[in-house]
Amino acid sequence: MASRQWNSYVAGLDKGKGLYFLFVKSETKTPGGLTARPVLTSYYKSEHFQSRPYDPYNVFTSPTAAILCADAFQSMYAQMLCGLLQRLDVLRVGTVFASGLLRAIRFLQLHWQELCNDIAAGALTPKVTDPSIRGAVAELLKPDTELARFVAAECSKGDWASIITRIWPNTKYLDVIVTGAMAQYIPTLEYYSGGLPMACTMYASSECFFGLNLKPMCDPSEVSYTIMPNMAYFEFLPHGGDGHVPGAGVDKAQLVDLADVEVGKEYELVITTYAGLNRYRVGDVLRVTGFHNAAPQFRFVRRKNVLLSIESDKTDEAELQKAVESASALLQPYNASVVEYTSHADTKAIPGHYVIYWELLAKDASPSAAEAVTRDGVLERCCLAMEEALNSVYRQSRVADGSIGPLEIRVVRGGTFEELMDYAISRGASINQYKVPRCVSLPPILELLDSRVVSAHFSPAPPKWSAHCAANQ
Ligand code: AMP
Repeated sequence: MASRQWNSYVAGLDKGKGLYFLFVKSETKTPGGLTARPVLTSYYKSEHFQSRPYDPYNVFTSPTAAILCADAFQSMYAQMLCGLLQRLDVLRVGTVFASGLLRAIRFLQLHWQELCNDIAAGALTPKVTDPSIRGAVAELLKPDTELARFVAAECSKGDWASIITRIWPNTKYLDVIVTGAMAQYIPTLEYYSGGLPMACTMYASSECFFGLNLKPMCDPSEVSYTIMPNMAYFEFLPHGGDGHVPGAGVDKAQLVDLADVEVGKEYELVITTYAGLNRYRVGDVLRVTGFHNAAPQFRFVRRKNVLLSIESDKTDEAELQKAVESASALLQPYNASVVEYTSHADTKAIPGHYVIYWELLAKDASPSAAEAVTRDGVLERCCLAMEEALNSVYRQSRVADGSIGPLEIRVVRGGTFEELMDYAISRGASINQYKVPRCVSLPPILELLDSRVVSAHFSPAPPKWSAHCAANQ
């Protein structure tokens, strides 16, 4: 959306700046030698971004050098510091996805003392070594004891409610995507921002830019994205609940054209792009809410087949199954196995992490076998084995970005999954068709599982990940 159009929703955005936490990810190479990187990394590295003409509606507090630094700590540190230095200029605070903004707040919680020291001394910590960041920050950073004292006073209270508006009092709204998997973060963002409006402006992917929200200040539950018909050739597959995976083939006869979708119906998005994807199933399920001229508008319903997502990771059922299988192989020497499992994306703490509930069966009935499993660090190794088996986006988030915390296995006592089934049946599930949910989020189910936990184990180390091999995996 042209930035000055924002003035029709929020006046005066040309009179201040945006505190946007923006990051690049490491590049990888495909087996054929092509560079592969997420779309925003391409954009930030492009001339288009770096040599953008001055636009008073689009002035960021973050120096471009900080955005372009691939080291997540240095980049975040510099962006936070510059945001604090210009705190009264800030009119909006944003990241692409809500999870990123929570990470930034967590960073402030962990590093405010160092940041305040730098502000008081007017000198950047030696932990930031990137020379271009140091140069850019030096232009802004002068000793300012009053600001250092103010930030320290706000952060040392131990009360983080409304921290965004306390530190950046002129903030009018948050610019973050909180639709789809990101909706889980709305209550926490409301807490940190004192209930500021959240604007979800765009719906896009690395494959293609799909649509815009023409009412950016509406409530997150009301957000519809208007498809931009010139971005690709858009087609829609009536959503029938088959188990197709993103990118899989399409039954052409079923496809509906952009102008022919019907209000109220759900479809899967299929794109043919200028870059060469042909009838590619994105994997998103959308519901038609109306039309803007002839362009349909959609509510994002969900991503197909995704069980777990903390940030940009998307873990499906098959992948989770494979990870559980490869980890449970470590139990064999103990004559134990996993009889049932389910999972949960725990975002109560930042960074969020995957929790996998395991019910174990010790084939050797002696209690010592079960004890040995929980005692000898075996389950910690199982956590790591699961992480090693997950996709490269997950591992990159764990290793390079620190945006996902160590995976946790919670062992539940024998019979817990039967109780889970009893609960589902008591709520009307069919006993014949009951399937163990491979991911749970309902509070009563989580309470049931958590009340049966006998031990909890965390991955002791980050999984293997390297930019070099990521694209091959
Ligand atoms: P990626 O290409 O990895 O950046 O992921 C693109 C995917 O992120 C989309 O296909 C959606 O599943 C999800 N996504 C992107 N924008 C939004 C949005 N505004 N609301 C909900 N989900 C989104």
